[in-house]
Amino acid sequence: MKAFCEECREFVNYNLTEKVLTGNAKGERCSYTGKEARCEKCGSLVYIPEILDYNLKALYDEYRKKHGIMSAEEIRKVPEKYKIGKGPLSLLLGWGKNTYTHYCEGHTPTKKYSDAIAEIASDPEAYLRLLEEGRDKIKPEAYKKSRLAVEDLLTVSDKLETVALYITHCCEDITPLALQKALYYVQGFGYAFNDTFPFSEDCEAWIHGPVFVSVYHRYKNLGFRPIEQAASFDASLLTTDEKAVCDSVIKNLCCYSGDVLRAFTHTESPWINARKGLASNEPSDRIIPKSAIGAYFKEVREKHNMVNLGGIKEYAMYMRDKTE
Ligand SMILES: [Zn+2]
Repeated sequence: MKAFCEECREFVNYNLTEKVLTGNAKGERCSYTGKEARCEKCGSLVYIPEILDYNLKALYDEYRKKHGIMSAEEIRKVPEKYKIGKGPLSLLLGWGKNTYTHYCEGHTPTKKYSDAIAEIASDPEAYLRLLEEGRDKIKPEAYKKSRLAVEDLLTVSDKLETVALYITHCCEDITPLALQKALYYVQGFGYAFNDTFPFSEDCEAWIHGPVFVSVYHRYKNLGFRPIEQAASFDASLLTTDEKAVCDSVIKNLCCYSGDVLRAFTHTESPWINARKGLASNEPSDRIIPKSAIGAYFKEVREKHNMVNLGGIKEYAMYMRDKTE
């Protein structure tokens, strides 16, 4: 690739380097890491439209980060998640029909508008309320399709429900935070030992670790208070293998607090990789792919020579040492 050098008055090869640059975003000076192209012969700056575009995006990404404004990538995911068009979604939010589309194309929303999107992005119940309140603003077919999608997100599968009840039945004083981690380990070790995932649901990479969203909504009103012990549940929904995984996770991992387990999952690659590029306090509804969970826990099993489920104990102790 060549570019025209104003100094040499000819097309020249150029070198690209990363550089801390400053720019003006919405009337505000911002430092950001951009790229610079210089003529290989004389070293002066050369003009390349793609590099200017790249830098402009990097500048606005930095501006968004600084102000806690969602990225265009995250904004684009919301209508997909709730199976609604960008136009109808914009109307539901009380905005002009094309506003949401502009944000998907890369326009930077104000903090207030970004917060409105962030609220529904991470909370299907909040979105459901918005959909119900605004159903007259959109076409009946659009309403129906989106309503089904959000109901699906809020439905807990029998398997997930049974395991959650089993864990809360066995563990006194387990908090919603710790329960989420326990479910995650059942999913991971379940796959490592039985070659199949116990839960069809995906979990998301939230700030405090992996979260099964439908279960989260069951217990969110508790905050950090423990869940009441489940009196009874239908254990016949679990296979012997699945029950054995639950028992080992309960025995060897549920003895730790939610905060300790949070530290565990924060050092494990599935959660870390799913949150790449996000600030530590940035909400996200990114899915942790089952493939990543499966590969990680298979590797854990191999690396820690786990001949049977009792090996989860050594992994827990190893993680305890690592995160202390
Ligand atoms: Zn030159």
